[in-house]
Amino acid sequence: MAQISTPPGIELSTATHTFLDQPQQLFIDGTWTNAASGETFDTINPATGELLARVPLADASDVDQAVAAARAALAGKWGQINGEQRAQQLWRIADLLDANVDHLAEIETLDNGKPFRVSRYDVIFAARHFRYYAGWAGKLEGSTVPVSIPNQFVYTRREPMGVVGLIIPWNFPLLMAAWKLAPALAAGNTTILKPAEQTPLSALRLGVLLQEAGLPDGVVNIVTGPGLPTGAAITEHMDVDKVAFTGSTAIGRKVMAAAANSNLKRISLELGGKSPNVIFADADITNAAKGAAWAVFSTAGQECVAGSRLFVERAVYDQVLDGLTLQAERIRVGNGFDKVHVGPIITETQLDRVMSYIESGKASGAQVVSGGERLGDELANGYFLRPTIFAHEDDSLDIVREEIFGPVVAVTPFDDWDELVSRANTTEYGLAAGVWTRDVAKAHRFAHAVQAGTVWINGYGLFDAAAPFGGYKQSGFGREMGKEALELYTQVKTVWVGV
Ligand code: ADP
Repeated sequence: MAQISTPPGIELSTATHTFLDQPQQLFIDGTWTNAASGETFDTINPATGELLARVPLADASDVDQAVAAARAALAGKWGQINGEQRAQQLWRIADLLDANVDHLAEIETLDNGKPFRVSRYDVIFAARHFRYYAGWAGKLEGSTVPVSIPNQFVYTRREPMGVVGLIIPWNFPLLMAAWKLAPALAAGNTTILKPAEQTPLSALRLGVLLQEAGLPDGVVNIVTGPGLPTGAAITEHMDVDKVAFTGSTAIGRKVMAAAANSNLKRISLELGGKSPNVIFADADITNAAKGAAWAVFSTAGQECVAGSRLFVERAVYDQVLDGLTLQAERIRVGNGFDKVHVGPIITETQLDRVMSYIESGKASGAQVVSGGERLGDELANGYFLRPTIFAHEDDSLDIVREEIFGPVVAVTPFDDWDELVSRANTTEYGLAAGVWTRDVAKAHRFAHAVQAGTVWINGYGLFDAAAPFGGYKQSGFGREMGKEALELYTQVKTVWVGV
């Protein structure tokens, strides 16, 4: 059995040990295989710094094989079955996810570090995603179109895009795979899934479940490896029809360039954020402070919607800072298998990056109200950071403008409406926003004024398979979830019939 250390009293399931003991392989055309080059890379447990597994490093030749398998599957049985049959497949996948919640959550917590309880939710939400899109599989209707030319009957069909590349980040490895796979499969596409190199394991375990669910060979192919060469081989491929990407804005630009310079494949991009969260003086302050802490510190700030810019109406500024500090200091950070609220930062490199932002914040005169340091002692081998609160009045600071992707919030007072809206919108990003107030009209006014793809009123960070999600501005384009996601994975064909 693999020597994976867990906190005292925590035993991993036999299924997880068995999975980690076996060699990890690529999943191409229904077959488990090594990378053609034989190369591998390491995936590390961020809570302990220990090696979890060696995983094949796919290069362009492996991606070629995966694309060929996906193309063939599209032309095969999968391309012929109807929506109801695809729905049945999706339901089977959902049932298998539900039947393996604890096992998959163990893998996710080992590989990503997030608390086990949170990993379980990710698996449960992933299953819900497959069920939600199962419901759509048989309902992808076209329309009949009245035209001005006589004796013509015109109708539209909603057809799959074809072969679709799905590139996933490390913060929600299994859930984001579901965000993309479920609508892509519901619409009848075939896919190449590339998990992030930091967290490849849950996707590989999902591959086994997809086989168990009876998905035909080649419908989902799973290739593991870093952006270069693996991700780029997908985005540059001449026979990939679409890429759905979630990751940083910098890489999103590269994905778009690769699409432009290859076959003009369709792309959808869910990118970074620097989301404003606003507390008005008339809010339930205790609740708002709690919500604001959770908006940025859950997942150690490693989520694209993190409410990392907190605007507080000046009359309650000190009160909110006190409440936020109290919350931050109560947050237990540690190994995800312990009773903790928040796990580690994903890698040492990312931790160093976050620390350098904290140093730059301090150097530029922002005040550290709480946190700011790495955790040591029994957590010293992992990549743990204390939730960090900065108070500032200068929106030009790096910690205020740039996405940190760590547990760092920049809190600032505001005095009036126009100032608030202008400052909230002064960012290249536009993924999400929050607003806390008891004044319903003001809440909606802000929701309409803020340039963001999702706005939460008196809450933060809620998602549902039915609710569309995506960015304004440089946070990307295309909407995942809801019926909108089906637009990403289908194209409309218009048919003219002389009658
Ligand atoms: P993060 O900030 O979450 O690490 P990245 O944008 O670096 O985000 O990575 C998100 C996903 O994009 C990962 O699966 C990564 O391997 C992949 N990726 C990174 N670089 C490229 C690239 N040049 N082309 C395609 N995919 C890439």
